[in-house]
Amino acid sequence: DVTATKGNEFEDYYLKRELLMGIFEAGFEKPSPIQEESIPIALTGRDILARAKNGTGKTAAFIIPMLERINTANTHVQSLILVPTRELALQTSQVCKTLGKHMQINVMVTTGGTTLKDDIMRLSETVHVLVGTPGRVLDLADKGVVNLKTAEMFIMDEADKLLSQEFTPVIEKLLAHFQAKRQILLYSATFPLMVKEFKDKFMVKPYEINLMDELTLKGITQYYAFVEEKQKVHCLNTLFSKLHINQSIIFCNSTNRVELLARKITELGYSCFYSHAKMLQQHRNRVFHDFRNGACRNLVCSDLLTRGIDIQAVNVVINFDFPKNAETYLHRIGRSGRFGHLGLAINLVTYEDRFNLYRIEQELGTEILPIPAVIDKRLY
Ligand code: ADP
Ligand code: MG
Repeated sequence: DVTATKGNEFEDYYLKRELLMGIFEAGFEKPSPIQEESIPIALTGRDILARAKNGTGKTAAFIIPMLERINTANTHVQSLILVPTRELALQTSQVCKTLGKHMQINVMVTTGGTTLKDDIMRLSETVHVLVGTPGRVLDLADKGVVNLKTAEMFIMDEADKLLSQEFTPVIEKLLAHFQAKRQILLYSATFPLMVKEFKDKFMVKPYEINLMDELTLKGITQYYAFVEEKQKVHCLNTLFSKLHINQSIIFCNSTNRVELLARKITELGYSCFYSHAKMLQQHRNRVFHDFRNGACRNLVCSDLLTRGIDIQAVNVVINFDFPKNAETYLHRIGRSGRFGHLGLAINLVTYEDRFNLYRIEQELGTEILPIPAVIDKRLY
């Protein structure tokens, strides 16, 4: 249970009063288990390697100690938060701003897909916290626009993704810009081997947190329906008419299929947004922002949005296309059932997908049941 804690209070950490105000105004009453484990250690400046399941409050687990350690009287960049996607960068900076509302804290987001010139302009003013994606941050550091020598904290969220082959060379180059004595904080729900390599190479006696013992997908009821490819849209239509969707995210396995499906859904008379990696960044931002604000009930997307995205109103996730591996499944399904809320996951599974279904079920030690004729509304 994500609410089962040691019984600590935020007051126990002797945080600045302004920070405590921000925390309470955000509606947080008590620290979650990952926050209880993480905050006191991070405050001492020690490296942390933390693994905790989706939706348990990892973001605040690193942002609270980070905000506490920032000296707003200094004008240089003191912390870098690295995330794998642009949307997550925006969301994370928003959490910094919300929790740091009463501190004079300047947070800047920098990601690909925006002009470098704007970033350079913004960096000529005070920035305490930089939140960004690897490529752009490295670009700014290499060009000398941002000085990371003075930054004390290097935080990676969705760390395993950031340490995948795609990003590792960039991360290592970025680290070279830091001073030798920096604090490294890594957070993720999944931690494969690359993380161990990184740990041995770059981290100093990290404090390791692993809160994954409990069932990872707790609170989320998972069903599958066997369908033929050409029945999928019809099946989705039936689901729309039967389910009590507050907001839903519908996943496809490719960009093309995202657009096609979005069109089909509109033709069926339901409203939907869609988002995928080939869209213009501005457009993607607008879709994400509007969806979060409830402007539309359904969002069709590719795996672009699987990681870290936190929209509490999402109570249903549909895999229109069944994912190929357990990790993707976990991250997709974890978009509902945030912070102890209940959620429903429905998988459309074709004949070819069926072995993947069994394998993923095994790997995750979870139960994906055949969809019943009537789904109990209390489950989500
Ligand atoms: P994770 O990164 O572990 O998947 P998030 O950091 O996105 O989870 O947090 C999930 C949700 O829980 C967010 O909406 C966040 O505002 C909320 N939350 C985090 N910490 C607390 C807390 N201590 N009390 C209440 N809600 C919290
Ligand atoms: Mg997260």
